[in-house]
Amino acid sequence: MTSPALCIKQAVKTYANGFTALKGVSFSVQPGEFFGLLGPNGAGKTTLISAMAGLSRLTSGQISICGHDVQLEANTTRKLLGVVPQELVFDPFFNVREALKFQSGYFGQRNNDDWIDEIIAGLGLTDKADTNTRNLSGGMKRRVMVALALVHRPPVIVLDEPTAGVDVELRQNLWQFITRLNTDGHTIILTTHYLEEAQSLCNRIAMLKHGEIVALDSTRNLLDTETELRLALTTDQTLPDNLRHYLIKEDDNNHYLLKLADYNQLTALLQILQTQRINVINLNILENDLENVFLRLTSDHVKGTK
Ligand code: ADP
Repeated sequence: MTSPALCIKQAVKTYANGFTALKGVSFSVQPGEFFGLLGPNGAGKTTLISAMAGLSRLTSGQISICGHDVQLEANTTRKLLGVVPQELVFDPFFNVREALKFQSGYFGQRNNDDWIDEIIAGLGLTDKADTNTRNLSGGMKRRVMVALALVHRPPVIVLDEPTAGVDVELRQNLWQFITRLNTDGHTIILTTHYLEEAQSLCNRIAMLKHGEIVALDSTRNLLDTETELRLALTTDQTLPDNLRHYLIKEDDNNHYLLKLADYNQLTALLQILQTQRINVINLNILENDLENVFLRLTSDHVKGTK
């Protein structure tokens, strides 16, 4: 059996000031997945990514990349992982191509020009290949950060908020290229604030809150959990009593917002409306999106959470 691309077992991180940012996080990502790691600010995503990258040590627990322990086999895991960090850090003396060649040499890959050309083209950097990195715009610098993380062809790619504050063109460009790498077999782990991006790209998602996993499921299952429905009845009608348990809210215009656990309940609801001869003016199913799921799971006011 092949090892998971990423395997995190009971990761605990307590900082020097006594604050515990990860409280026993466990999950694995299989090779070829496009995996989302989501959570509000302060959830512990960056802490977890630094531990994956071997930049900081866990207090306890274990992380492995393609079956190799990040602490015990740091030289191996460094080559297996490409991390695109949030902050823009460059050596100011190189142009784009030189920076990529230098980085490639650092990973011991010297005859890598074809791949460097491919990355440059894939990320829309062709026009800037000979420009000094310090003279690039913020968006272009961001592209170079992605290119630098990919230069050694890592099988596992971690993108930490890669599209924060970048324009639409770069986002599309970047996602096209990353999706292609994923199709070619690279495992992608993404953190992002743009939930619609996570929804359309990730096949599975972990949601982290206060250092704990609050959801871990396929994107499809997370979105399937509940359906909201808006129902408008004629003014002479009211919602039948046996539908009241679905009710979230009603307004003075005889509009009702209902919550269904799944689509099967919809059939039951339609039958009740029909047998009781309720006049429906309008009925629409509200598309569930990751934003709703995220808010529900990460809100501090949800029952049963801290
Ligand atoms: P995220 O990336 O999800 O926003 P972080 O991993 O950056 O979250 O932070 C998780 C928690 O750990 C936050 O409450 C943050 O303040 C705290 N934290 C991060 N770095 C340190 C540190 N060096 N010392 C103490 N606490 C820290």
